[in-house]
Amino acid sequence: MLVRFLGTNGWFDSATGNSICTLIEASDAYVVLDAGNGIHKLGRYIDDSRPVYLFLSHFHLDHIVGLHTIVKLKLPQGLQIFGMEGAGDILKSIIRRPFTVPLGEGPFPVKVLELPRDADKAPFLEGYGFLVHSDPCMGFRFRLDGKTIAYCTDTGICDELIRLGRDADLLIAECSELSGRHSETWPHLNPEDALSVARLCGAKRLALTHFNAHLYDTIEKRKEVEERLKSAFEGLTVAYDDTVIRLQA
Ligand SMILES: [Zn+2]
Ligand SMILES: [Zn+2]
Repeated sequence: MLVRFLGTNGWFDSATGNSICTLIEASDAYVVLDAGNGIHKLGRYIDDSRPVYLFLSHFHLDHIVGLHTIVKLKLPQGLQIFGMEGAGDILKSIIRRPFTVPLGEGPFPVKVLELPRDADKAPFLEGYGFLVHSDPCMGFRFRLDGKTIAYCTDTGICDELIRLGRDADLLIAECSELSGRHSETWPHLNPEDALSVARLCGAKRLALTHFNAHLYDTIEKRKEVEERLKSAFEGLTVAYDDTVIRLQA
């Protein structure tokens, strides 16, 4: 199973990458995590052999802005979008004319499903819950190809984050803040926070993504994190656009 980082920036696109989007290529499904501008690369990696599920953590624009590009994808099998309660109405209010082609009016069917109501429509979804952020934001836990992957972005440290990441084979966490920085009003993790969360969870591997494009304005700043922390956590991956993690079944 491959985990492919298509976009790894938080907030906006810059020379360091696109806004956040991650693709999990499992044997029975493509699972896409958030729809920042990185989603424009999705067509390179998926075909019509498996269903495609897109999980939206929340509706801050860096997580949904790429939705206006999906009409170019070839998805005869359709796209199932999962989000929190109210996701259908919220997406309809943004992904619409005169801004873009409304969802489902493109060349393939799009279905918006809401949690918890439609949780049984994604049998590999093992858990989900609300994290701590400036607006409601969900984290997810998946069981795919015998591995557990937790995806928790845009959050401060909270119980739900620890619960979702518990014993995960891979915890995909955010790294918006610089070391030593915290914000009470707009909670995010800094590198050391993410590392201590991974330890608390007992996660085997940790991937850092969603680097705030304003704070991590050069790739070198991510490399510094990698250099500083790689010996502190053996399973650490600092993600860049196009980084791939292989999880062996
Ligand atoms: Zn974000
Ligand atoms: Zn956010």
